[in-house]
This record gives sequence, structure tokens and C-alpha cells, in this order.
Amino acid sequence: MPMTEKRREILETLDLGGLNPGACAGSRWLACRERVIPSISPVDGRVLAEVCTASESDYEEVARSALEAFSTWRLVPAPGRGEIVRQIRSRLRLSKQELAQIITLENGKILAEAEGEVQEMIDICDFAIGLSRMLYGYTMPSERPGHRLYEQYLPLGPIGVITAFNFPMAVWAWNAMIALVAGDTVVWKPSSKVPLCALAVTRITGEVLQENGLPDGILNVIIGDGETVGERLIADPRMRLVSATGSVAMGRRVGRVVMERLGRPLLELGGNNGVIVTPSADLGLATRAILFGAVGTAGQRCTTIRRLIIHESVYDVTLDRLARAYGQVRVGNPFEKKTVMGPLIDCEAVAAMQAALETIRQQGGRVRFGGEVLRGGLFDAGTYVKPCIVETDPGLPIMQQETFAPILHVMRYRRLEEAIEIHNGVPQGLSSSIFTSDLREAELFLSAAGSDCGIANVNLSTSGAEIGGAFGGEKDTGGGREAGSDAWKAYMRRQTNTINWSGEMPLAQGIEFGDFSSRSEG
Ligand code: NAD
Repeated sequence: MPMTEKRREILETLDLGGLNPGACAGSRWLACRERVIPSISPVDGRVLAEVCTASESDYEEVARSALEAFSTWRLVPAPGRGEIVRQIRSRLRLSKQELAQIITLENGKILAEAEGEVQEMIDICDFAIGLSRMLYGYTMPSERPGHRLYEQYLPLGPIGVITAFNFPMAVWAWNAMIALVAGDTVVWKPSSKVPLCALAVTRITGEVLQENGLPDGILNVIIGDGETVGERLIADPRMRLVSATGSVAMGRRVGRVVMERLGRPLLELGGNNGVIVTPSADLGLATRAILFGAVGTAGQRCTTIRRLIIHESVYDVTLDRLARAYGQVRVGNPFEKKTVMGPLIDCEAVAAMQAALETIRQQGGRVRFGGEVLRGGLFDAGTYVKPCIVETDPGLPIMQQETFAPILHVMRYRRLEEAIEIHNGVPQGLSSSIFTSDLREAELFLSAAGSDCGIANVNLSTSGAEIGGAFGGEKDTGGGREAGSDAWKAYMRRQTNTINWSGEMPLAQGIEFGDFSSRSEG
């Protein structure tokens, strides 16, 4: 099917028009009139559709709806909230193909990865549904006779969810589905680079909320300028938690503003992920995993492998294998099955990659493979590049920062302790991995003297996390945790309760307070 026809069909199936309002409270779409922005497909550089961005008053209406809806939603028993998530899950499952296609069209990731992203939403729904019956708090033995001491988790309030362009649906779902069962309402501010993905999902969730007779304002979306929408949302005291995913620079700003008003920030920021290849590594396995980790999503995952630290005894052989594998990577139309790497998000991302390569050369790094901008046919969109391997020295200043493009820095080490030092010697701390068959090396890497990241793997890539574990990173990555394990606690208000059923008034720590009778009159 020709591209124009295909895109029209995808947009129509998802109920997206040529011009779409950029704000919705539950199932009520607002008549936004602030500014029209295009959604440009990186696949061919053409405009997919347009979006009217939200104004200050649109933001106010959405935030007010979220607060009003909270007063109802928090009283729905958690398993009942889980039932709504179950219905959302069914709809997402039914629309899996179309949702994956709009991700590929708007973001450029290959269809298989886009399907994986939709599956991730379905998986987190499953997790949240189970969680809705497991929001456990502890009961502790009280030191006072006739007293009961326990903790309970209560809904927190409306929460803001800010998402990056590279996971235009899944990161929202990680937050929103957990927030829903927690009893919170959600205001989603997606990246303006991928607005249609957010609108498509909101149409689906809006239908479910409406069919269940729930008030507007439980799941909301708002698309707009940083000044009008983003800054307003982070400064808004009604947003009790702001979960923000994106660059470190964005996180610094969001963290400051949210903390200033003593709100809760949950920050999921940039990575600079390293992999150590030891002499005992299974090199076949390592090559495949590194290829997926470094080239997948065109190097635009927060968990993308950016630094490869190889033992000197296996350096040449690993690099040769990798360069051969890179030579077979098919860059092209992300809808075609054989394509392994689609375009970068836009021409600015390509320019940033080229600028980084120039800096790498100036600083003494050597390009071993790729890096070129591709041209001709579809490539004239200006968004397609060859993935790149750079031989480098651990001290290269540019390696301290995350270049959000498929550039893999490769370097040597002699002793594992030295490799770990190189590995930890960057400001970010998201994901990490070691390839080894030596138990001692693996355990050292996972110990307190090992990787300083939020995620540390053995014999697999840094990317491709499952939703069951808590996801997030340390240092400049922001310290937030999302998705699995007990990450749900950030979305709830913990309350410690003590009940005195004794008729006496014993004080904690055995304090004797004055010479009064401790027996109550009743
Ligand atoms: P970005 O920081 O440019 O934008 C992210 C989001 O923040 C967008 O929605 C943007 O509009 C919003 N934003 C920016 N400034 C804001 C402000 N002052 N107030 C409110 N909102 C604001 O990031 P990007 O280019 O979209 O995404 C790439 C980055 O995201 C990379 O650094 C990547 O590592 C990171 N990322 C991290 C994770 C993680 O879980 N750690 C996941 C995905 C992406």
C-alpha cells in the first residue's frame, strides 16, 4: 500500500483527524485555539496531521477537572479501579496493531519495537490489575498495651506525567495505570514531537471512562508550549506528584520547581549506559545483545548502550565481530520487516549526532564504522543515519554526556576494577551490564563495589527491561523508580495509624506525664 494511503488508514482507524484538539479532560475534548503545530513523520519528513495546542485556560480546565474527579475516583475501591484498568487493557489489546503503526509513523521506531511498546502498556495494565488487590501496608506490634499500629496507603491526588518522545505511549502507561489503581487522577503532558500517539491513547481511555459513567478528569491529556503548559503543570500545587521522563536538563528544572513548592518529583532522566566485556564472555551472545542494545530504536532509548569497555585480550575479536554485525544492519523504512533501524526522530537529532561525531574526532576518537547521513529516496527525509562505532579513550570529555543517537564508544581495560571505575565515571547512572562466565566477576559487578546504576545485568543488554522490576537510575538519571516492584508507593499517601482500644492512656517510650489518673472517665 502506498505511504499516503497507509497513513490515512492508520489515522482514521484511531479516530485522528487532519486537525486535532490538544487537550482532553477524560472523554471531553477541549476546543483548543492557542497555536497549530504539525506532527511530522520522521519516516518521510511529511506532515502527518496537525494539533491545536492548549492555552492557559485550557490547562486550568484540565487541572480543575483532574482535581474534581479525584474526589470521586479516590472513593472507588481499589479492585474496582483495577477493573477499569482491565477494560483499558482489553481496548489496547484490540487496537495493538493500529497503535503500533502510529508509533512507527510518528516516532520512526521499527514496527516490531512499536508492537513491543504497545505490549508493554498491556503488560503494565496486567501488573496494575493485580496490584489493585495488593496495595499492602504493614501492621506492626505496638509497644503500648491495647493499641493497634499499622500503615495504610491512600490515594495521593492529581498527578502530572511528562513524557519524552522516544516512548510515546509506554512511559505514560507505566505511570498512569499504576496511578489509576492507586486512586490518583492523571494529567499527561506528552512530548510535542509525538502528539498523535498521546491523542490516540486518550481516545481509547476516554471511551472506557465514559462507558463506565465515570466523571471527566480521571485521565487527561494536554499538549502545549513549555511556558503555557509544562511550566504551569510543574508549578501547580494541585499536582501532588510530577513524574517527568526526559533529559537531565529538563529534570533539573522540573526537580527544582516541584521541590520549591514541596511537591513530589519522580525523575526518569538520561542514561549513559556502559557494558563490560570480560575475557570469559560468550562473544556470540555478547555481540547479539550489544547490537540490540546499541542500535535498537536507532540509539534513542534511555537504556541504549553508549559505552563498551572490553578487556584487552578480547578487544580486537569483539570489535571485529561487532563491526561485521553493524555492516549487516539494514537501515530503512521502519514498516518493512527486514529493517533493523529506522530514522532518528528529526533532522535536529541528526545534526546533533553529526556535531557529536565532529567533537569526538577533535578530542581524538576514531570512527571505526558508520556515522554517515544517508541520502536518496526515502532517505531524503534527512533523518536516516548509519549506526556508528567509535574507538575511544575513557578520558574523552564528550563521553560524560548522553548523545541521543546510535554512537557506540568502545575502549579497552586491563583489570576488572579499572573497568568498573571507567564504567562508573560518568554523571548518569541508569543501566549497566557485564558479559562474563566467571561467577566472581559477575558478583563483583553486582556488589556495593560494582555498578552504581539503578539497573545492573549479567549477560544481557542494558536495554529491554521487563515491567515487573522497578525501573530507574541513580545520580543524574534522577533517582526515580517506576513500573514494577513497590514503585507504586510513590503514587500514594502513606498514613500511619494507631488505635487505642484499651481505655487506658499509656504513653510511648514509657513517659509518665504528670500525676493524673490514666483511666478514662467513661
Ligand atoms: P526532553 O527533556 O527534551 O523532553 C521530555 C519532556 O519534557 C517533553 O514532554 C518536554 O516537552 C518536557 N519538558 C521540557 N522542559 C519542560 C519544562 N520546563 N517543564 C515541563 N515539561 C518540560 O527529552 P526528549 O528529547 O523528549 O527525550 C529524550 C531524553 O529522555 C533522553 O535524555 C533520554 O535518556 C530520556 N529518557 C529517559 C527515560 C528514563 O526512564 N530514564 C526514558 C525515556 C527517555
